[in-house]
Amino acid sequence: MVGSKEKSKEKRDKRLQEISLLRTIPYSDHQRWWTSETVAVVTGANRGIGFEMVRQLAGHGLTVILTSRDENVGVEAAKILQEGGFNVDFHRLDILDSSSIQEFCKWIKEKYGLIDVLINNAGVNYNVGSDNSVEFSHMVISTNYYGTKNIIKAMIPLMRHASQGARIVNVTSRLGRLKGRHSKLENEAVRAKLMDVDSLTEEIVDKTVSEFLKQVEEGTWESGGWPHSFTDYSVSKMAVNAYTRVLARELSERPEGEKIYANCFCPGWVKTAMTGYAGNISAEDGADTGVWLALLPDQAITGKFFAERREINF
Ligand code: NDP
Repeated sequence: MVGSKEKSKEKRDKRLQEISLLRTIPYSDHQRWWTSETVAVVTGANRGIGFEMVRQLAGHGLTVILTSRDENVGVEAAKILQEGGFNVDFHRLDILDSSSIQEFCKWIKEKYGLIDVLINNAGVNYNVGSDNSVEFSHMVISTNYYGTKNIIKAMIPLMRHASQGARIVNVTSRLGRLKGRHSKLENEAVRAKLMDVDSLTEEIVDKTVSEFLKQVEEGTWESGGWPHSFTDYSVSKMAVNAYTRVLARELSERPEGEKIYANCFCPGWVKTAMTGYAGNISAEDGADTGVWLALLPDQAITGKFFAERREINF
């Protein structure tokens, strides 16, 4: 008898095969809204999924800014792609450091003027395997949620007004889902609040993560109904998912020609440093949906969650 694990492995492998086939089909001139002047920024791109997204976007002919919090490591990573003939530039960016964000924005303004695509990939996770420590909760929430939000807010004024719209892509995770097989959230009040997209606000998302951090501090989080695996990381990605919906709704009020589309995606369980290289797919496959989203010819899609190039539920 084939177990459910085998079945989902079969399904995943089949979808990955379909996607690798899709990747071989070049974009037509009609679909290709970008040129070599189109600028994409990827955060945390010195390694892993971020590095792969830079490589793939540059392979499609965009100018890509590889950013990294460590200058030397970032320069080396960019050099690998530059030597491969890719149009890749480098600048330091630590999304936890407001002066680094300011310095980066100043540099972008002076060197490029505006950008077209922002991919928020930088993130941390301190849980190893099924170990579930909340020891680093503050760092995880600060980086994955607040850091992502801060760089988005700083970059929005630098996003180009164009008929095809500018794009924000947030790298999140199925671990942050509110419903479904992978959701381990047991707190019904939190679920109800974050599911109600019409009344969802940034303040509600902030309050949710603050409540979680307060319970961690008080030592009461275990009875708080938070996800039981990768708890702090799952809460951080849940918050970014929710914020993506709020952001998309706010940005959709902008006039035609000034639109910015914001979506998020789960790359799958990827063989990178974050998983101790224990994932089941390569960084190349993990990066695919993010690149596909950034380049979507149909620009009207916003506020959605994707995996393997398909929309999934939050
Ligand atoms: P890596 O650990 O390989 O990459 C994470 C990147 O984020 C590194 O470049 C890291 O820099 C950078 N980073 C961390 N903190 C900051 C910061 N304050 N400022 C700027 N950059 C920072 O992991 P992945 O490639 O796997 O992860 C990429 C994204 O994908 C993350 O958001 C992760 O949560 C998400 N994801 C990954 C999954 C997986 O299975 N791997 C599954 C689901 C989501 P440094 O090298 O200096 O540490």
